Parts: sequence; structure tokens; C-alpha cells
Amino acid sequence: MQYSQEQYINSFLNNVKIIEDSFRRNVGLSKLTVSYIKKLSEELYRRYGKESKLKIMDFCGTHEYTITRFGIRSLMPDNIDLVAGPGCPVCVTPSYYIENAVKLALEGITIYSYGDVYRLRSQKPVSGAYSLADARALGGDVKIVTSIVEAIKDAEKHGNDSIFLGIGFETVAPGYANVLLKKLLPRNLKILSLVKLTPPAMFYSIDILHEKPLESSIVGVIAPGHVSTITGAKAWAPVAENYGIPVVVAGFEPIDVLLAIAEILKQLVRCEAKVVIEYTRAVSWHGDLKAQVAIHKAFKSVDDVWRGIGYIPKSGLRPRENFEYFDAFSYFGIKELTPSDWRYDLLPGCRCAEITLGKAKPTSCPLFMKICRPEKPIGPCMVSDEGTCSIWARFGVDSLASDIARDVGLR
Ligand code: SF4
Repeated sequence: MQYSQEQYINSFLNNVKIIEDSFRRNVGLSKLTVSYIKKLSEELYRRYGKESKLKIMDFCGTHEYTITRFGIRSLMPDNIDLVAGPGCPVCVTPSYYIENAVKLALEGITIYSYGDVYRLRSQKPVSGAYSLADARALGGDVKIVTSIVEAIKDAEKHGNDSIFLGIGFETVAPGYANVLLKKLLPRNLKILSLVKLTPPAMFYSIDILHEKPLESSIVGVIAPGHVSTITGAKAWAPVAENYGIPVVVAGFEPIDVLLAIAEILKQLVRCEAKVVIEYTRAVSWHGDLKAQVAIHKAFKSVDDVWRGIGYIPKSGLRPRENFEYFDAFSYFGIKELTPSDWRYDLLPGCRCAEITLGKAKPTSCPLFMKICRPEKPIGPCMVSDEGTCSIWARFGVDSLASDIARDVGLR
């Protein structure tokens, strides 16, 4: 059925109104959900005792933003601990690839980068430059773009050898696949695909904490809403089936997150573990099948390295052999990292890896808000708006206030 422009606009406005009424202004539902969370947590408190902190992990920078920005942690009972997971692709991009991009920029190759990647610091300098921003200051041709389409249009104009830094999760992969499959890239523009896949990282994060005592293992997962529009909620089924952990695919309004927490606690009380879609307005069980096929045709999955963490099996995407000409790795002879080459690539003191895996919080890093701040980031989690340290630095007033209150004996 074809919609007229007017019908389309009306339907859009109607949906916005539903979201406003149901999710943004629904104080009654918020209060009910918070009191339901308290009731469920009391039941779990009786069952597991006061020593047990129940750790619920979010796997998306936008969920961490919602939780921190809207003070959702401050609404949680004492035995519920909300922790961030590997939800920021910039935070986990290895230093090695940034060093390569900086080197090529200084050799005269035009580099297209998203704004947050532009400020990402490498561990080692290349000719005095730690980041693409430094490389530009030294005369390198580094251009900030908001999409690969912008890079294509610009590269077509100048004809210089160029690289688009393809950083992101499954949400950006269909766009990159599309330009490869439809041959939209000009011959002078290559992709350096550093796309990461989130389900393997989720299994890895759960695995390393799984055998630990209850207070440090993950008992519930708020699965990423954006990624799930592509992968479908089915991608998280192994978390429920293999680990017995409840999963809720949630939207990004505060009430979405509260409903997700309530559903996880409800499953824990009932000793259930299943995948539930709370974000039904955007996510289905099977996801976007067309996008999945496009990704599969354009890319192969590879064992990939996550900054500060190391190799996670089948967690990255590289172009298939038939797109070799547009693959920056082969065209520019960039050597792939291997497990034996990779070295721990965070700066001394930076606890990004532990923060990314839910084992630490930004406030436990000695550099947090001292020498590492959003305006002058040292570690990768402080660079992007989706990085946990950046979110806590900008909005974590509740958390900092709670810590100080605890330190001075008020809590
Ligand atoms: Fe790393 Fe900075 Fe976060 Fe510390 S505050 S963990 S140095 S990003």
C-alpha cells in the first residue's frame, strides 16, 4: 500500500505523540514500575541475602546514557547494580589501527572519519601524532564526515587516494555493505572496515564473569535496541538458553529501561530466563533480513581484537575477497593484527577494558575527571558520546553524589 506524503507525515506525528504520551510523560507508569522493581528486589533480597548485588548489564551506549542522564541508578534498590557493557565501538577500536590511519594521513592519504574517532588517542605516537586530530594539525588531510555517503561525494570531487574509517556495530554495516554491493564507491576511496559484532562480545563478557560468585556475575541483560533492529532479538537467545540469563531488548526512553529492569527481575523471581522484546516499536524477533543478507554478501566475519581486551572469536567484519580493490587493508598493505602481534593497548592507569566488561566503573579509575576529561580525553571510553566514562563525566552527578555520600557516611 502506497502512502501519500500527508498520510506519512500524519502517521509519523501520531507515532511521536504515542511515544510522548506513553514513554515521556507517563509519570504514573514510571512510579508504578519503580515500585514494582522495589517489590521484586525485596523478594530477591530475601532469597539471596543482603550480600548479593544483582548485576544487570546494558550493552548499548545509549542505554548507559539514559540510565545515567536520567538518574535511573538512584531509583534502584541497594541490591540492584546497573553496569555498562561493551556498548561503544570507538572505545574498543584498537590503537594499532588508529596508528595506521595517522601514518597514512601523514603520508598524504585523505582520511574520512566520524567526529569521535577523530579525537581517539593511540597508545603510541606516529611522527609526534597520537590521533587523527594531531595528524591534521601536522598537515594531514583528515576530514570529519557523518556518513560514508558524504565521504563518497567528497572523494569523487578530488580524486586523491582516500580511506573511510568504517567503525561501528551492526547498525552501520548494512550501509557499508550497500555501497560495496551496489558499486557506489569511487575507485580512489577504500573502506577500512573495523566493524565489530556485538553478540560475540556479549557472550565473552558474560563468560568471564559467569563462574564468579553471584555478586560479580551478570544476572540480567538489557540488550541493545539499535543493533537488534538489524540482528533481531534472536541474536540474544544463547544468553537465555546457554547461560540462563534473562534478556530484554529495550528502547531508549527512561520508561523503556525501567520496564526492562522490571521484566528481568520478574524472570529472576520466577526462575525463568527468556528473551523479551520491550522495544516492539522497532525490533522484531528475526530483525532486518534484507540487511542481514547484504552484510553476509559483502563481509566475512573474522576473529577481531577489542582494545584493551584482546581477541574475541568471530567478532569483526572485513570485506569479502571480491571487494579486495576497495578494501583498505589489501590496497594500502595494512597488516592485520594477529593474536601474537597484539599487545595490551591502553595507557597506564586507564581502566577502560574493565569498564567495558562491567568489572569496574569510571569512578574507580584514578584518572577520571583528573587528567582524563571529555574536553581532553586520555582513554578511549572518554572520547565518544557513547563511551561510559564520557557519559558519567557529563551526566553522572547522581553517581558521584552517591559515592561522596557513601564516603562521608551518609548512605
Ligand atoms: Fe580510561 Fe579516562 Fe575512563 Fe580512566 S577515565 S578509564 S583513563 S577513559
